[in-house]
Amino acid sequence: MKNHFPNSYLEIDLGAISKNIESIKQRVPNKKYLAVVKCDAYSHGVVDVARHIRDQVDWFAVANVDEAIELRRAHITKPILVFGVPTYKTAAAYQTHNLTATVSQLTHFSILMDGTDYHLNFDTGMGRLGFSLDQVKEVRQQAVINQRLTCSGIYSHYATADDPGSDKVLEQADLFSELVKHFGEIPIKHISNTGASTNYVLDNYDMIRIGLGMMGYNPGKTRHKWLKPALTWNSRIAQVRPIKKGDTVSYGATWASPEDGYLATIPVGYGDGIPRSLSNKLEVSIKGKKYPQVGNVTMDYIMVYLGEDKLSTDEEVTILGGDALNASDWADLGSTNVHEILTNLKGRFERSHINY
Ligand SMILES: *Cc1c(COP(=O)(O)O)cnc(C)c1O
Repeated sequence: MKNHFPNSYLEIDLGAISKNIESIKQRVPNKKYLAVVKCDAYSHGVVDVARHIRDQVDWFAVANVDEAIELRRAHITKPILVFGVPTYKTAAAYQTHNLTATVSQLTHFSILMDGTDYHLNFDTGMGRLGFSLDQVKEVRQQAVINQRLTCSGIYSHYATADDPGSDKVLEQADLFSELVKHFGEIPIKHISNTGASTNYVLDNYDMIRIGLGMMGYNPGKTRHKWLKPALTWNSRIAQVRPIKKGDTVSYGATWASPEDGYLATIPVGYGDGIPRSLSNKLEVSIKGKKYPQVGNVTMDYIMVYLGEDKLSTDEEVTILGGDALNASDWADLGSTNVHEILTNLKGRFERSHINY
């Protein structure tokens, strides 16, 4: 749906995304860099982001063929790896749009059409997609037999790299280093995501896959000052009303005003991506001052306690990023990850890109 009269504004700082990429390159130098832009580039707008960063990265990756076609239609010519599984329905699209498939089970060798480029995907402990390690021999055989396809890479994915100090990361790293010995001739070997690249000192092989880091966040609890969130979400006060001591606010009446004062109603709610589970935990920023969000988050609105400040309707309110809490803070408060906070931002805002 096109928003002709949007209630809120998502501002994406493309320059910040470029800087984050350069900061990551400085820390993990001399690799190929794959930009993970699935799910509309974590809600940052895949076409604008991809066009802006295309000269900074070597590869793009997306979750499915539709997302990859969107990039091709936007004239992105860099290689695009599709993480998802190829099917009979999508096989032709890989060929037509020159996409790199992920081959993660034996049937994929026969599904893909002549000339299709692919990466092998092995499961070293993520437990999601990929060949198991005891299939090495059959996979090698199929790769050799299927000379009608081109294998340009082999990869795996860490399950626990979002936080530092995980033994499982080291186990997976060992398994991958054993695995790739059987595939020496494959040019691009890759396993590291943002967390593995920023929280660990590991062999990053030929390429790192960066999603969240580009957007300016480290996954997990560790924050890195050198990553700067690119996203700011603003709205405007819809109404300001006096509130009396003891008056309750919103569904369930979970909050009562401690004093006589003012209450602002902001036209964004869980329908726009503010998790309802964060009710009574958030803060917004208005004119550089923090105010608590009070009562349950509703579908279309949140309420903010202004105390004695009688602010005016239409005053700008920063909900996320900028002077307010950022997506990492929300993730911590909500016991979820930053990825989920970002991908839940959808629909009822106008998104603009700045700092080209
Ligand atoms: C999403 C994804 C990534 C990117 O992860 P970040 O934590 O955002 O860097 C990398 N590799 C695979 C296979 C993924 O699915």
